[in-house]
Amino acid sequence: MTDVRPDEIVDVFDLDHTLLNAEALWFRPALDWLETYTGLPRAVVNERFAACNKKTFTFESLFASLGVPSPHWERIERLLRGGLSSRANRSLYPFVLPMLAERRRVARLVLVTAGDEAWQRWKFEQLTELHPLFLPEDCHFVPLAGSKADRVDPYRVASRLSFVDDSPRWLEEVASRISHARLIRPVWSDTTAAADHPGDGKHWDVACSAAEIHAILTLP
Ligand SMILES: [Mg+2]
Repeated sequence: MTDVRPDEIVDVFDLDHTLLNAEALWFRPALDWLETYTGLPRAVVNERFAACNKKTFTFESLFASLGVPSPHWERIERLLRGGLSSRANRSLYPFVLPMLAERRRVARLVLVTAGDEAWQRWKFEQLTELHPLFLPEDCHFVPLAGSKADRVDPYRVASRLSFVDDSPRWLEEVASRISHARLIRPVWSDTTAAADHPGDGKHWDVACSAAEIHAILTLP
């Protein structure tokens, strides 16, 4: 990581459910395909996919849980990755790109995403529209069992530090370590997992659109 200057403004963003409509939009056609291929009821496919996401996601774990015969795993994974790659940029939430471009004029943008490192890196690689906005050294990939606050901490000297993440787990972790960080929880309408949390409006602000995220980030 390059040095952080005290006069810099730093905006830290999560990826899944913060910038990327990961499940309801981006991954859905892959689940449609797996539903047809396996002949399993959609509810079962959804449930097993959700279970794989609760742990570190890999295609192997998904295929195994759906009973896909292992000799087909490699071929099916390649097929599904092709579709995922081609629709990645279109699966960012509405107006996220112009919001980031606007913030990029005044702030240093940082990405901190958690999950299987190879999978998260691959996901980001497909999101080519994000690449001009984030310096490579400001993209951080954290194991699910790891710490986001460890990656955010080196930016604490910035004149203003904001942390945008849909997950209360990470908001709470950053709040406990970096008390002056401004916290924003995006709650997009598609996200079924985005239930109300007691910290909403108390320990962090909630934003329901890119315009709302931008408005909170630009508060003095
Ligand atoms: Mg997230």
